Amino acid sequence: MAHDRNDPRGALVLFSGGQDSTVCLAWALQRYARVETLGFDYGQRHRIELDCRQTVRRELAAQFPAWGGRLGDDHVLELPLLARLGDSALTTERAIEMQANGLPNTFVPGRNLLFLTAAAALAYRRGLSVLVGGMCETDYSGYPDCRDNTLKALQVALSLGLDTPMTLDTPLMFLTKAQTWALADELGGSALNALVAEHTHTCYLGERGQRHAWGHGCGHCPACELRAAGHAAWVAAGGGAA
Ligand code: ZN
Repeated sequence: MAHDRNDPRGALVLFSGGQDSTVCLAWALQRYARVETLGFDYGQRHRIELDCRQTVRRELAAQFPAWGGRLGDDHVLELPLLARLGDSALTTERAIEMQANGLPNTFVPGRNLLFLTAAAALAYRRGLSVLVGGMCETDYSGYPDCRDNTLKALQVALSLGLDTPMTLDTPLMFLTKAQTWALADELGGSALNALVAEHTHTCYLGERGQRHAWGHGCGHCPACELRAAGHAAWVAAGGGAA
């Protein structure tokens, strides 16, 4: 397990209760003196992930007391605006499929731009100067608002617009899903990986369902397939061996 670092800054983690944001939360707890969490309720079909958030926070604090000492308040912001803009398979009952522009119809235009802007405003109020998010270019659906350059530009815009440094940390940006499992292992060993598998939620359809080696989910939606494939690749590379 990696040693804790001592960056005196405070961080706000965009924490959905999924695998990626849980690993980001652990990463932030290992690094920053004070860490708060933020979730968004935007009418997502997989609202069950909002219920997982408190369980994950509680388990992290209980199993990793040093991190528990750094874990501060949790916040939930409602953004019903996103569902009203509508027409995404993430917020409407419809099949998940590819669109003519090469993006899956789970794409919610500008979602991460809105999330990060709202997060920056909250961070400003809370005296936090780092935003941590699980956006990822590698191995993902090609969402343009998850790309490194988009977020670098947004970091500059937010820092200028708030007239205070606002750093955007994206520790998963260039990791594959298998490497995300490996990062969890590096941060918190098998205990953290077991916590991630058992308590985080990824399935787009909001199903907890059967418990697979990689966790709970329908097993067939793009999010489940990605998570399962990443776990299988990590295990094939020797990950999780006792
Ligand atoms: Zn699923």
